[in-house]
Amino acid sequence: MKQYQNYINGQWMTSNSNEMTAVLNPATEETIAEVTSSNNEDVDKAVQAAKDAFSDWNSMGVDARLEYLEKLYEIIVANKQRIADTIVQELGASQSFSESGHVPQSVNEMRAMLDDVRDFSFEEKMDTALIQKEGFGVVACITPWNYPFNQIQRKITPALIAGNTVVVKPANDTPLSAILYAELIEEAGLPAGVFNVVTGSGSTVGDYLAGHEDVSVISFTGSTEVGRGLYDKASDQIKKLVLELGGKSAMIGLPGADKHKTVKQSVDTVLNNSGQTCAALTRLIIPEEEKAEYLDIIKKYYEENAQVGDPTDENTKVGPMVSEKQKETVMDYIQKGKEEGAKVFIGGNAIDGRGFFVEPTVFIDVDNKMTIAQEEIFGPVLAVLTYNTVEEAIEIANDSPYGLSGAVTGPNDEEALEVAKQIRSGNVYVNQGPRSPRVPFGGYKQSGLGREVGIYGIEDYLEIKSIMLPE
Ligand code: NAD
Repeated sequence: MKQYQNYINGQWMTSNSNEMTAVLNPATEETIAEVTSSNNEDVDKAVQAAKDAFSDWNSMGVDARLEYLEKLYEIIVANKQRIADTIVQELGASQSFSESGHVPQSVNEMRAMLDDVRDFSFEEKMDTALIQKEGFGVVACITPWNYPFNQIQRKITPALIAGNTVVVKPANDTPLSAILYAELIEEAGLPAGVFNVVTGSGSTVGDYLAGHEDVSVISFTGSTEVGRGLYDKASDQIKKLVLELGGKSAMIGLPGADKHKTVKQSVDTVLNNSGQTCAALTRLIIPEEEKAEYLDIIKKYYEENAQVGDPTDENTKVGPMVSEKQKETVMDYIQKGKEEGAKVFIGGNAIDGRGFFVEPTVFIDVDNKMTIAQEEIFGPVLAVLTYNTVEEAIEIANDSPYGLSGAVTGPNDEEALEVAKQIRSGNVYVNQGPRSPRVPFGGYKQSGLGREVGIYGIEDYLEIKSIMLPE
């Protein structure tokens, strides 16, 4: 059994907690590794190492920092398969989605940032002043389990480019991607203390790290509930806060839209990663008069594309939920959907046996006030809603505490764009427009604060100083 320590100050350090946490493969329920259950002392050591490394890292200048990060990028590219396999093992994402989704996203987003920052000015003149942009200090990066490698990449690439140093606290269910990240950082030879990882539970290690007086920025991706608590915590010391939180995103099919493409786009986001995607288009909003045709297409699409099973099998589309707890959460929501009067059109049951599997599920006759339309389920569950006018469709889409993503398909791009502009969320796709790895990602409303990815992502990690020069 492999056992992993924390990575602090360029070294693998044993915790005096003498406690380890088992990491399970959610498809087999076997223990695949053990990681350190850290305590406050480990967090203190990691924050101190990051604090000590900050001055040199911040003052060496962006070009020198980019040299290190280019080396790291090459190493990440050389280790793509290892990264993909680790994600399959600890998260249960299908091998094909891990290789075609998780890993390219990390590589491409990192590449775009390293390229685009070359045209970004860390110093600029404004009238007689010099505007200087630099790191804040130590960034606490607290990450979820659903994209365990890229959620770290999205934080550390911009934070390190900007001159900050970091302490990463990965999710307890998927710490192996963070451990692998540290191994790759070690190979790239980044200065000791610039990047540190402490593993352990959110309520102890995460909470203590976020409140640490030497942490200047809390960068959190995870649930809105925990994000809300961190908002309070940040307020004590007026820490900078970046929050990437939950979502309940809507896909609107306008009258006359291509129904096959509409269904595919929405359903793929609900099946890939077993629906454990913050930006999944989990509410499919279609014209009442086109409902019958849509349901035929949905049924056929699920028959042909929703294979559940061993994530390492190349034909599998839907792997297990990440944990037994997540499986229970999803099943509780399915039960609630049934109780509140939505109709199960496909699936609706847990799958017995080894592994945390649930049936891909589609609810129809959903009212947007129902729990399954308002709350994030984080599983392979789609809610189909209908509308009579386009205004009503927009109202349904916006009637949500969240505002992370959305999509509109229509018979022509202009019409769909007009509707997209009225969706209150940080990302909206028009007629299957592709996403570039340099465009900002983040949420309106309770889906978050700040943006990740690309230059916008870097700006969130920069302090701005106005130096008034003599005339
Ligand atoms: P979570 O909020 O339970 O945990 C996220 C991280 O916070 C974990 O590392 C956890 O250990 C830690 N944590 C938990 N309690 C804490 C506390 N009191 N103080 C400090 N840290 C604490 O979320 P999760 O279940 O790991 O991930 C799923 C959630 O993440 C979903 O809501 C999803 O929408 C969201 N998410 C958002 C984005 C985005 O970019 N907007 C991306 C991915 C996931």
